Amino acid sequence: MTDAEVPVTQSTVERFTERYLRSIGCSIKRSENHWVVTVPDGTETDLSAGSHTLACGKDSDQVDNAEHLNPESEFFQRILREAIGRSPTGKLSIGGETDVELPDWIQNSAVEVRNAQFTPYYDRTAAVFLFRIGIETVSEYQQEFLRAVAMDARSEEHLPKLEDTFLEVTSIDAETDTNDRSHFTETDVQPLLDMARDLLLDGIEERIDEIHREASRAADAEVEEYRQMQQQRIQELEEEHSNLSSKINELSEAINTGDPDARVQALKKRKELKSEYDDIGDTLNELRERRDKGFPEQQREIRKRHSLDVQVTPLTVTEVEYEQGEVDLELTKGKTKRIETIGYGVGIGITDTVRCSSCGQELTKQNPLHTIEEGVRCMECIENL
Ligand SMILES: [Zn+2]
Repeated sequence: MTDAEVPVTQSTVERFTERYLRSIGCSIKRSENHWVVTVPDGTETDLSAGSHTLACGKDSDQVDNAEHLNPESEFFQRILREAIGRSPTGKLSIGGETDVELPDWIQNSAVEVRNAQFTPYYDRTAAVFLFRIGIETVSEYQQEFLRAVAMDARSEEHLPKLEDTFLEVTSIDAETDTNDRSHFTETDVQPLLDMARDLLLDGIEERIDEIHREASRAADAEVEEYRQMQQQRIQELEEEHSNLSSKINELSEAINTGDPDARVQALKKRKELKSEYDDIGDTLNELRERRDKGFPEQQREIRKRHSLDVQVTPLTVTEVEYEQGEVDLELTKGKTKRIETIGYGVGIGITDTVRCSSCGQELTKQNPLHTIEEGVRCMECIENL
């Protein structure tokens, strides 16, 4: 699971429900084990106007006359359906007072950052989409999660760092107000949404493949189990068939040698057994034929049951305003001091790649900054000295 996604747990259900209900104008009073939601007259929702009690959290089963709020509850599914139909838009500003987020190539570095000063140059707008992803197959592989995808609204650049920031600042503890209406129009949003969905699908491809492999293995095992059962059935029938054949032979003997009374009895009995023998023969032929073809109908049925159904549903789009500019990093190592100026966005992080002045390699978490005496030099350069 990447940082920019959350499983559909109780807390995400509560967070989503709270955000949605507030966005349509409801007020919520939260207590230990329940919420009282007030829906004002004239609110555009299928919920009836007035107050609703939602049981959630610890001891929620002790709340009387309440609807339940949890991932499986009727109420949540209803809210989800309504939200999907409405695709609410909100607006959020990621603001200036936050600490500068240092690049990961300096976090395990021998060089220290004495000061980091951000200078904003211009305001940018990003679109952050929240998607619900449901991967369904036979129940044991069922998964559901929410995932954010962030893109700059103008340059259409993917902003992965902002996805984490978005989930952080919109978490239930953060009490961020996203009630402002967005300026996005449907024409703005549609092309971004299509791109966001593609990015999302690329991002979860590996996981889908993995689940697909597991489901295929489960299907294979089930097919094999079915095949063995049928093989066993064939063996049982073959045995029965051969027993009947011996009995019929014995009766034929009796018919040829016995007295007239016994002959009549034996003839009757042989007729019965013969018909049973033929029926089993037909069943056996049919089973063997299906076996030789590999039980195609059962295979189809089993594989269909194990096939994946991936649903990607956009839930919300949020217009996020952020500041883009530069950050001056004051670096020190021993007595040496150096200032590096690099592109930075609030909530976006460092936007420039910084290269080693000696070997030209990009500085990364794995290959961090090591010295600043003669320009910025990477760890590998020092190790190779
Ligand atoms: Zn280097």
